[in-house]
Amino acid sequence: MKSAGIISIGNELLSGVSLDTNSSWISRQLLSVGIPTISIFTVGDDVKIISDTIKQALNKADIVLITGGLGPTDDDLTRHAIADVLGVELKLNDELLSQISEFFKRRNIRMAKTNNIQAYLPESATALANPVGTASGIMADYKNKMIVAMPGPPTEMMPMFKELVLPKIEKYGHGQVVLTQRMKCFGTGESVIAEKLGDVMARGKNPLVNCTVSGGIITLHIVAAAKTKEQAEDMIAGEKNRICGILGDIVYSKEEKTLAEVVAQELLKRGKTISLAESCTGGLLAKMLTDVPGATGYFTYGWVTYSNEAKISQLGVNGDTIDKYGAVSEQVALEMAIGARQRSGSDISISITGIAGPGGGTEQKPVGLVYIVIYNGGAKKIHKFVFPHSREYVRQRTVLTALNLLRLEFKD
Ligand code: AMP
Ligand code: MG
Repeated sequence: MKSAGIISIGNELLSGVSLDTNSSWISRQLLSVGIPTISIFTVGDDVKIISDTIKQALNKADIVLITGGLGPTDDDLTRHAIADVLGVELKLNDELLSQISEFFKRRNIRMAKTNNIQAYLPESATALANPVGTASGIMADYKNKMIVAMPGPPTEMMPMFKELVLPKIEKYGHGQVVLTQRMKCFGTGESVIAEKLGDVMARGKNPLVNCTVSGGIITLHIVAAAKTKEQAEDMIAGEKNRICGILGDIVYSKEEKTLAEVVAQELLKRGKTISLAESCTGGLLAKMLTDVPGATGYFTYGWVTYSNEAKISQLGVNGDTIDKYGAVSEQVALEMAIGARQRSGSDISISITGIAGPGGGTEQKPVGLVYIVIYNGGAKKIHKFVFPHSREYVRQRTVLTALNLLRLEFKD
């Protein structure tokens, strides 16, 4: 499989003044024609660093795409660096020079002497026309590989890439299609998933399986390369089934759904209604469950009973239970779930009480201690957790865990 390396050039990208959006855009374009990007470099306006980076990229990649550094000023050094890599001189291209002078004439602007440099090309390289600006692109062959340089401004780079570069490099991809689909997991760590999947996650295979984690949700990215879209889809479907067989209930969606969407779907399918009694999550679970369109079909009531008084007056929690066991206890969580279910008349209720922190923890009841009760049918299940990190993390993790527990209820 042919592969690409991308180099973004400019001091402004290194100092954080501008964001490198060119390389992500280019890598998406390349993937659509079956060429994966294997490296992305960002370098400053230094001719030695640029030529070293081009050489490094050429070591592994078949096509090296460069953006930036084709302007008329002293810090625009891409053409010099390419000449250095090719081992050739820069040579004035008369046709380019007249095109650049024309560009200024049409706009009735005097052409500065510094623009002359934009008419110089490394010997053996060809120019890529730029209808929008004075910086033409550069294309050169190098030991059966290809070097392409384009201007930095996205408004100039994008049309040049689409019209002049893509048609040339499409041939490199051999008409291959590369498709990526994702599946979602919750309830265990990245390392456990990698351990369970073993060879499934081996590098260099097709389909390739990658793993990313964000906020406790693990996403598996399955990338398949094939002759046709249908073949790639079949390969991904087969790999997804294999992964589900290994991970079982850890997979909560074979598509890109959220936990709330999956739970909502299950509730609607079963015609079940739900009510919530939240304390430390302050209504976050209610928010997530009502984020899903069509929540009227299952969501009845949500109480945020943050104070003891609210737990007593709104949910009928016994004041003595709070005195005896504390507001963060399985007994109070249980009474909250019973109260929510009785007062709402819903089929299922969930209660949450915990210590989100940063203060308020004790040795017996540390920050992060959370009780979640799922009251479904005749069964009241009490779950105890101690979540780490910040207040935000504890609250977020609590809500996702509650959704996951409810999802698993439907598996029984
Ligand atoms: P240059 O071709 O080096 O003269 O780049 C001119 C301008 O293009 C810069 O000032 C940036 O605003 C923009 N630019 C350059 N490189 C990138 C990049 N990788 N991503 C997004 N914008 C860029
Ligand atoms: Mg620049």
